[in-house]
Amino acid sequence: MLTRAPRGTKDILPEESFKWHYIEENIRKVTKLFGYEEIRTPVFEHTELFQRGVGDTTDIVQKEMYTFLDKGNRSITLKPEGTAGVARAYIENSLYAQAQPIKTYYITPVFRYEAPQSGRLRQHHQFGIEVFGAKEPSIDAEIIGLAMHLLNKLEVGHIHINISSIGCPRCRPDYQSALKDFLQDRYDGLCTSCQDRYYKNPLRILDCKEDTCQDLLKDVPVILDYLCKECSDHFELLKEYLTAMGLQFQVNPMIVRGLDYYTKTVFELIASEGKFKGTVCGGGRYDGLVEEFGGPSTSGIGFGMGIDRLLMVMEGQKTYIPDTRGLDVSFVTIGDKAKTEAIKLVTDLRDADISSDIDHVGRSIRAQFKYNDRIEVPWVCILGDDELDKGIIKLRNMKTGEEEDIALEKLTEVLKDRIN
Ligand code: ATP
Ligand code: MG
Repeated sequence: MLTRAPRGTKDILPEESFKWHYIEENIRKVTKLFGYEEIRTPVFEHTELFQRGVGDTTDIVQKEMYTFLDKGNRSITLKPEGTAGVARAYIENSLYAQAQPIKTYYITPVFRYEAPQSGRLRQHHQFGIEVFGAKEPSIDAEIIGLAMHLLNKLEVGHIHINISSIGCPRCRPDYQSALKDFLQDRYDGLCTSCQDRYYKNPLRILDCKEDTCQDLLKDVPVILDYLCKECSDHFELLKEYLTAMGLQFQVNPMIVRGLDYYTKTVFELIASEGKFKGTVCGGGRYDGLVEEFGGPSTSGIGFGMGIDRLLMVMEGQKTYIPDTRGLDVSFVTIGDKAKTEAIKLVTDLRDADISSDIDHVGRSIRAQFKYNDRIEVPWVCILGDDELDKGIIKLRNMKTGEEEDIALEKLTEVLKDRIN
């Protein structure tokens, strides 16, 4: 137990964190480019927030939440998705009183009690977008474009945009009854979860991952034929705008998304090549959510992109990820006096923004050289009594093997010059 992380969790080790930084830096660049600002909400919220916001009939609320009582006997849940917390923060901090829209993004861990498997963790990480106060389909197109801009910048290929509309509280009931009519004769063949969904939320049956249920859905009526004028106009404009942005997409009426509060646009970005194949990003519009939480009637739209899955796709596609690890300079010191002097020098180098380090484990001279070879540091400074007496240090270029003597007080200046 002591040396095993909980099932479905993963350590991000020093040798791979640079990949996460690379993705996160690109997220920060792209969101800035599109005019989004970061929001950070707590990792846990009151359980009720997710029950209300995600919906009682969803897998997330029914089976997947990490819920516990805190010492004050409050029911607390680790965030199973990002939207509910941001919507709560929007209301609690009166962000609706500012000029709209409010365009936010976040990078956060997400917790779901799932059966762990490839691409399915109990703690995963999402890059999310949430926009409040914009009802026009141009924002729907914008966030899809933002996700694609990021993926293009990261040079991820084989991503397919799937879009649909799931209507609104005015037109969806008509579709729901048509769907129930269609499924009535097929009810006995549905899995037990879908039999439950049939009564509580039939739309969710379209999303079932069981093959037997999917087989029963051949020729199922599609929601797009039932949209009211407002929803269908909205959807037509979304398609027009995506086309204007030069994006190719597929209309797929089988995507409904896992969450209850979605209205109109839903979309998924699906990877068809990589170590993970499937949905890397899912999102949609949730015009009913803020009001559901007791705020003013407010449009909302967002997405969640799984960073763990994205990285698997990138690794499978052998996408180039620049390796930014490593020092510029390392010291080899001979004797106690040299070590103290090296501490002064490395302090100066770091003050000058030159990444550098000395030996901290008492290695022999030979072992210090070997270690520096292994970490592939480009510059090594060698300092012993001889050099100290002369007030110099030996600087070795590890690529060429060339060595030169540098006056101690010139070291920072010389290295600054060599490194840039
Ligand atoms: P799925 O259908 O795969 O269960 P979902 O509908 O539950 O996905 P969302 O709630 O839309 O997923 O989450 C947004 C994104 O977060 C997903 O597209 C996926 O990339 C990622 N994601 C969701 N659950 C997990 C998980 N358990 N492990 C890793 N990534 C996940
Ligand atoms: Mg899920």
